[in-house]
Amino acid sequence: MKIVILGPPGTGKGTQAKIISEKFSLKHISTGEIFRSEYERKTKLGIEAHKYWGYGNLVPDDVTLGLVKTNLPKDNYILDGFPRNVYQAKELDKVVSLDYILNIESDKKIIIERLLKRAKIEGRKDDTPEIIENRFKVYERETKPILKYYDGKVLNIDGHGKPQDVYKRVVKILGKTNKN
Ligand code: AMP
Repeated sequence: MKIVILGPPGTGKGTQAKIISEKFSLKHISTGEIFRSEYERKTKLGIEAHKYWGYGNLVPDDVTLGLVKTNLPKDNYILDGFPRNVYQAKELDKVVSLDYILNIESDKKIIIERLLKRAKIEGRKDDTPEIIENRFKVYERETKPILKYYDGKVLNIDGHGKPQDVYKRVVKILGKTNKN
């Protein structure tokens, strides 16, 4: 099974991707998490990518695509944070046939509150009010058009409420019961 999970910043797509990956035994591939861990390890890629994500901007496509290609198994994965623009979506389509495209939806006000709370708990460097605002702009401009590109294939999920409640909606929509 090959899943892509989309949604504006702070909708909880990372949390859902993690739960889905565990329940369905999928590899969880989060480009954002890879960028953060590479930066912590101070690798060349990590330092280069941070020049972009540190300000809420997208990391250049060549860097991101290279990273995804080296981490992508043949099957059974969930991509979280990729694709982030229509070009990446087209490149992905050239090499894989996706089973499900999930889109987690939430209200912007709720998302901002959640992100600011996360900033205090996790200390993510890109969770400051200014950078959050930029991430939203980038989402609207670059990422949202993906929904149109995938038109008709996107499964929208209400992202409000507790992670377990959102996950129940995911399961319902996938038309499968979890294995546990
Ligand atoms: P995330 O953890 O998915 O919120 O990603 C954190 C940040 O990493 C994003 O705001 C982007 O700056 C960067 N990033 C993650 N995935 C991608 C991607 N597919 N293309 C470009 N930049 C990305």
